[in-house]
Amino acid sequence: MHRPAHIHRTFLDDAGSDYAYGLDVDAFQQIINTEYPALHTTTYLDHAASTPPPRSTLTNFAEKVSNSLYSNPHSRSTSSTATTLAIERCRGRILNELFGLTDPAARAEWDVVFTSGATAALKLVGDAFPWQNARYAYLKESHTSLVGVRACAGEADVSALGVDEMLQVPPCESSSTTQLFGYAAQCNATGSRLGLEYCRRLKMRHPRGFVLLDASAYVSTAVLDLASLPIDCAPDFIACSFYKIVGLPTGLGCLVVKRSAGAVLQRRGYFGGGTIDAISVSAPFWAEPRRSVVPGPLHERFEDGTLPFLDIIALDCALDTHKKLFKSQRHVSKHVSTLLRFATRELAALRHGNGRPVIKQHRAFGALGSDLEEPGPIIGFSVLDPESEYVGHVHVEQLATVNGFQIRTGGLCNTGVLASSFNLTDEHIREEYARGRSCWDDGEPDLPAEVTCL
Ligand SMILES: *Cc1c(COP(=O)(O)O)cnc(C)c1O
Repeated sequence: MHRPAHIHRTFLDDAGSDYAYGLDVDAFQQIINTEYPALHTTTYLDHAASTPPPRSTLTNFAEKVSNSLYSNPHSRSTSSTATTLAIERCRGRILNELFGLTDPAARAEWDVVFTSGATAALKLVGDAFPWQNARYAYLKESHTSLVGVRACAGEADVSALGVDEMLQVPPCESSSTTQLFGYAAQCNATGSRLGLEYCRRLKMRHPRGFVLLDASAYVSTAVLDLASLPIDCAPDFIACSFYKIVGLPTGLGCLVVKRSAGAVLQRRGYFGGGTIDAISVSAPFWAEPRRSVVPGPLHERFEDGTLPFLDIIALDCALDTHKKLFKSQRHVSKHVSTLLRFATRELAALRHGNGRPVIKQHRAFGALGSDLEEPGPIIGFSVLDPESEYVGHVHVEQLATVNGFQIRTGGLCNTGVLASSFNLTDEHIREEYARGRSCWDDGEPDLPAEVTCL
């Protein structure tokens, strides 16, 4: 990595022992060299979208699956049983290492349902929530995958509400209406955090409401500490993807479900192998879902077909490597906070010749008064020209690319943040769309660029 020596020195003086996971800087640099050879020739700043897997994860995985036999878990052979055990151990590890549940009794209150990712986990709740007499309220500044749950809630405006502040959502007129609240623990576009505290406040106000938490961005660099609050104040359903935390495997995520809330989820429509106890062969057709009811394992009802068992083994290897290289998620949090502090300060100090700022940083959840936690390690920003006009994101991305930086630009799957940062109304968005524009194209409205720290 080539960075001006004076910046490096200033940074290290400031960062103290929180930087480099408690290692000395040379040892840390050595890890980067051996574990991430692909990063030598570029400055990769898109870790919040996907972080590269360290080499040791790949070698450990290759060793493990070539020396031990793992096989399809739905059987009683020794390899199948070993695979089932490894999968169950991994569920416990996820709760322990990523969600702060170190006590086995506390873990027993939760279940982990494997999915193909955070989006699939959010969709699972959308598909299985009892919408007949229910309402979905979500924060507007959310990732599209969380917003999309509203399409399950129904077309009618009465059953879905996009709001700036859910604490002001009035209780439903009928006490028999069930409310589902959706929000992100950390904004994917700006790093702003609501964490678990916002859930606690929601639950105080709506004790019978259910909370769906999108934790995908938050857990990539922090423990979502479920042990830190009473179970009644904790979210009911929590979605995440593992590649954002440890790089490999892709295509695996989970829905963490509070067992006492799990019974509300109902399977509808399609059923697949592994999720039913008995079916008829001929008409009249019937199918009995697995009897696993609370406190039995909820995941049995929702994991259709064969689990991606080698991916789960890969996750186990990735968590081992993560621990070996970075010690714990708490060390990761401290390390990236030093980078965030430094980068935020340096960007804020950038000035044009006329003294005007070059960078405008964006924040989410402003309507809530203040961030409930220090922001996570994402910087969502726009570049301004000397007249303080926005420089288009395509131009910014081109400049970044030719200078060897890999960043993410554009709408970042978060239309709510886009709208609040640039005062866009739904009419604006409609008009842009009517002019042939979409979330994906290279047109030049003034969209944020985003940089995320390792
Ligand atoms: C990445 C992300 C998602 C989507 O995750 P997938 O892995 O693409 O399913 C959803 N919400 C937030 C906050 C994210 O950061």
